[in-house]
Amino acid sequence: MRAMDGGIVSTDAARALLAFWRASGVDMDEAEAVYAGVRAAGPALREPPKAARPLKRPSPGRDAPVETARALAGAAQTIAELQAAVENFDGCALKATARNTAFADGVIGAPILALGEAPGKEEDEQGRPFVGRSGQLLDRMLDQIGLSRKTNVLISNTIYWRPPGNRDPTQGETVACLPFVERLIELAQPKLLLLLGKAAAHTMLKREDGVMKLRGRRLLNSREDLAQPVNAMVMLHPAYLLRQPQQKRLAWADLLAAEAWLKELGVELGAHS
Ligand code: URA
Repeated sequence: MRAMDGGIVSTDAARALLAFWRASGVDMDEAEAVYAGVRAAGPALREPPKAARPLKRPSPGRDAPVETARALAGAAQTIAELQAAVENFDGCALKATARNTAFADGVIGAPILALGEAPGKEEDEQGRPFVGRSGQLLDRMLDQIGLSRKTNVLISNTIYWRPPGNRDPTQGETVACLPFVERLIELAQPKLLLLLGKAAAHTMLKREDGVMKLRGRRLLNSREDLAQPVNAMVMLHPAYLLRQPQQKRLAWADLLAAEAWLKELGVELGAHS
């Protein structure tokens, strides 16, 4: 039996707890059925067969942050509520070392949702995604095809807190944030999801192809519980382009591919400044 703090309680303690609940007037039918089922399951201790591999026991509470994230994200009915849910979520360890939560920036209801990886130093300081050097380059790139976070783009990340020293987020950190990212896509209902860089592409497309293979193609972000898949295009991450400026020609080709698709989708683009 699992205690409320996620630990395991002994059989005696469990029995005492059940007795206490019963005496307090709690409806014990279900709890007793579970307990009876456990007792009826056979001898308490059995020698494992010699050659059997030891069972990998899930560590207590391992999936709890993901379950909590799912419940919080699912309850949010607006992007503002989702932001509040993310800010109240303590299931991602990165929150403890970050200065701020960097949830999203731009226009709610925009036809384009751009997703990067994780906040860096400036984003952590300001509590907004893509406000540092790579964010400034992203703004210039979007501007080339009439997109802007001031008029028609919402920008977010697949992780909401800065990893210490800008290290790569772990799988656990990514998985803990994912229900919020998926809910953001549901609530924002973008016509096109721009996935900036490898981490966002792999997380949202659930495939491991290199970013050079994925970039600039018409793809779909789909999930079992999503009524309709969402159009998605992978682009090179602006931070990568700052390190490899010779690759900007590829980014330019991807922007033109995105522009053509957006026009076909009937998305109105602004004039570039
Ligand atoms: N890189 C990202 O992926 N996201 C940011 O918000 C900033 C830099």
